[in-house]
Amino acid sequence: MASTMTFEQNREAAERHLARFAERPILHLVGGEAQPSASGATFSNVSPIDGTPVGDVASGDVADVDRAARAAADAFASWGVTPGTERRRVLHRVADLIEARAHEIAVVECVDTGQTMRFMAAAALRGAENFRFFADRAPSAADGLSLPTSGHVNYTTRHPLGPVGVITPWNTPFMLSTWKIAPALAAGCTVVHKPAEWSPCTATLLAEIALEAGIPPGVLNVVHGFGDSAGRSLTEHPAVRAVAFVGESSTGSAIQAQGAPTLKRVHFELGGKNPVLVFDDADLDRALDAVVFMIYSLNGERCTSSSRLLVQDTIHDEFVERLTAKMHGVRVGHPLDPASVVGPLIHPRHLAKVDGYRAIAEADGADVVVGTPWEGAPAGGNWTAPVLFTGADPSMRIAREEVFGPTLTVLPFADEADAVQIANDVDYGLAGYVWTGDVGRAHRVAHALDVGMVWVNSQNIRHLPTPFGGTKASGIGRDGGDWSFDFYMEIKNIAIAMDTHAIPALGG
Ligand code: NAD
Repeated sequence: MASTMTFEQNREAAERHLARFAERPILHLVGGEAQPSASGATFSNVSPIDGTPVGDVASGDVADVDRAARAAADAFASWGVTPGTERRRVLHRVADLIEARAHEIAVVECVDTGQTMRFMAAAALRGAENFRFFADRAPSAADGLSLPTSGHVNYTTRHPLGPVGVITPWNTPFMLSTWKIAPALAAGCTVVHKPAEWSPCTATLLAEIALEAGIPPGVLNVVHGFGDSAGRSLTEHPAVRAVAFVGESSTGSAIQAQGAPTLKRVHFELGGKNPVLVFDDADLDRALDAVVFMIYSLNGERCTSSSRLLVQDTIHDEFVERLTAKMHGVRVGHPLDPASVVGPLIHPRHLAKVDGYRAIAEADGADVVVGTPWEGAPAGGNWTAPVLFTGADPSMRIAREEVFGPTLTVLPFADEADAVQIANDVDYGLAGYVWTGDVGRAHRVAHALDVGMVWVNSQNIRHLPTPFGGTKASGIGRDGGDWSFDFYMEIKNIAIAMDTHAIPALGG
């Protein structure tokens, strides 16, 4: 199991599994064939650990997207009518192969993204779980309702949309890709995937696994490249019926505009500035562990991270003191070291953004507490340390903007109404976390939060049948359970007369 490997074993595996990326460029996968860009263009991919090259990557544009979209359209003719039971069989095989290669996927992800092994080992396995979950639902994906009247039988069916585009970010690229691609394939859609340019490696592993599992050529295609070329072309292609996008809110709004001329159906999982509300009647030991986990895990590069701590003023000072001590204990280290919690951030540009919030916080009048950096951090990497912003108020930028790093802003509140008001007073509405011992308050606050998901006395524990998504600038639509199929499928109503009812006879 990946999580039981030592640092040395992980290093050795990384060297072995990453050699291929150094030896030959990552290519697009179109119609089951690895292909360079039509233009021959490539870009170089470097590791956030030390800035050393991981390898070159084909840089796609409109011509490559066109080839991939045509391949997806051709493959849809048979995949769209493949029995659900057969899709279930093949998707379970994908899950089997993900499990068999989970350690490889995890080490490649660590080196490519800077995320640490303790989280990437679990994320690889969650990728398999995503495939199994939707595989089991493939046979019933087309099921509908019976809505009879006295004279007609109405029944609904669902049909796969056709070729769809999936555009993913770099924070947990493998897991997120499976979360979008597995339901599309289970529904009978074919896919063109555009992975993030800062983390291209594991998309190739997933595409290889899919082919080996027996997913027919053309059903899952991958076009690498930048957002404003490959990504844009995918959202504009007339054969692509829908775009499932995970990324920044501003990119979501650009994609909506790009897709408007071809009337793209869109599904957006976007940014967050999620509050965790800690009331003085809560189990404070558990709340403290959850607060620390939900901001410093996954480098804080997590859409559902609780990046705003709203803590009742009666317990504020003591809670923040304990939090500060824990924050200093959060270990920054090499991503392949199983003891590390925080690794390097994805890219120098992202590092500059995240670290830049320290100066912004100070200029706005907040206090900045910096955690313990890693003294052994290799030069050339995007290393940072956990940060706590205290003495903040809700009007400050650190209380309103998504930082997407290991930085937590603390805001005191007086009572329930005050807490809800502060929690809702941001542009985002992805998730909220509530810690209280009062069951009535738990329900009241959960109902009052303007977010798509609330966890009470819990951190982010996912149950795949439940809806995942946000309100306001955090997204459009829901994933999970049957909601994913609603997006990837068309609903049709069929009305059949059972009688000889009167038909108005016009025209004599
Ligand atoms: P991003 O929006 O910069 O990029 C995401 C993807 O979109 C990349 O593949 C990129 O190449 C592509 N892209 C960029 N411009 C495009 C365009 N004009 N047309 C088409 N595609 C384009 O996001 P990021 O920085 O990679 O990821 C971080 C963001 O993702 C954060 O805001 C985070 O909250 C969000 N996120 C949300 C969820 C969720 O479920 N709500 C999950 C993970 C990450």
